[in-house]
Amino acid sequence: MTVRRLLVPAGLCAALLTSCLLGLAALLFAPDLALATTTMPKQVTCPVCEKEITVYVISSTNTFGGADFDLCSHAAGTEPRLLRVWSCPRCWYSRWSGKFEESVEKAVKKRILEDLEPEVPLGEVKSQTDIPGFVKFGLAGTILEWEEVEPRELADHWIEAAWAVRCEGWDSLAPLKADPELSEAKRALDKKLSGWQREHPGGEQDFWRCRADLAAADLYLERAGEEGRDPVDAALHRLIAASWLRSRGENHRAAPVFKSLHDDESLPLAIRATAVSMLESISRERGFQERFLAALARAQESGRIDEENDGSLSCIAGETCRFLGRDKEARDHLVHALEVASRPTWVDKFGRAALERIKGSRSRAADAEGQPQDTE
Ligand SMILES: [Zn+2]
Repeated sequence: MTVRRLLVPAGLCAALLTSCLLGLAALLFAPDLALATTTMPKQVTCPVCEKEITVYVISSTNTFGGADFDLCSHAAGTEPRLLRVWSCPRCWYSRWSGKFEESVEKAVKKRILEDLEPEVPLGEVKSQTDIPGFVKFGLAGTILEWEEVEPRELADHWIEAAWAVRCEGWDSLAPLKADPELSEAKRALDKKLSGWQREHPGGEQDFWRCRADLAAADLYLERAGEEGRDPVDAALHRLIAASWLRSRGENHRAAPVFKSLHDDESLPLAIRATAVSMLESISRERGFQERFLAALARAQESGRIDEENDGSLSCIAGETCRFLGRDKEARDHLVHALEVASRPTWVDKFGRAALERIKGSRSRAADAEGQPQDTE
């Protein structure tokens, strides 16, 4: 699976908008069908240790969850991205589903059997779904690095890994869900918000679900700051707002909110524990984003990257750097993308919009601090 196949070439905007509209129509008329990501179990043999394992092949899915500004797509319902890398629970050999059963070079096989370990210790693994996405993608990426595949292929893998962590991020809300009082309060807030979102569908733009979530986050941050609000209620508002920002990749904004919630010892433990889980999830995503940027830099230095990929991956790198709070680097990637001669046509619109977003975030930061914008 390459990033290129996930992008919608030349028609990202129209196609995405169409899929969102179709998604809405489908949701209205056939909610169960529309939400389904369906899978089929399949027996495969690990090519390293020869264990027979059951994996899940995706037979249908959707992109009704919209796309984030770095083009990470979301499904409504089960997130298929997390099922696309398979791991052997005995030797931890891991690879993209379509290539899982291909033969593995002898030296790499030996290294897998001797050195490969998941990033965190796992309990008994009965099913592929017992293995977190960040573990599967991390193992598969390590093997690709041992195999010394082309840096461009590694870049594709690591950005998908970052997106898998983001899509998995909702699991980090578990501590909150475990607290009956707070989870009830959150449900009530969600209900209020769903009314607000229906009235503010986010306009005609390509990333409208993303825009709606970000607008909702702003609304909740504003409400959290209203005078006279109970401190726990305010903290819950900020936690939910930061979770939306995090789910759309805007980690440079989400992380400071989670950090301040974690640091406030007067807050209920469930809120602080949720904030910690979210910070861990952000940190894992950041690790994969850094590997993506490093692999892309190597691909560009080696000159072994075609212009189409150079243009599209540089756009994604621009947004990735913005998410990491590194605006100057973000701008350099976007300017480069707009200079690539045979770039895909969507890069122009996307690149210019991304440059505007950087300006917007700088002026917001300057407003917040009451300082003039710097002109870096
Ligand atoms: Zn195995």
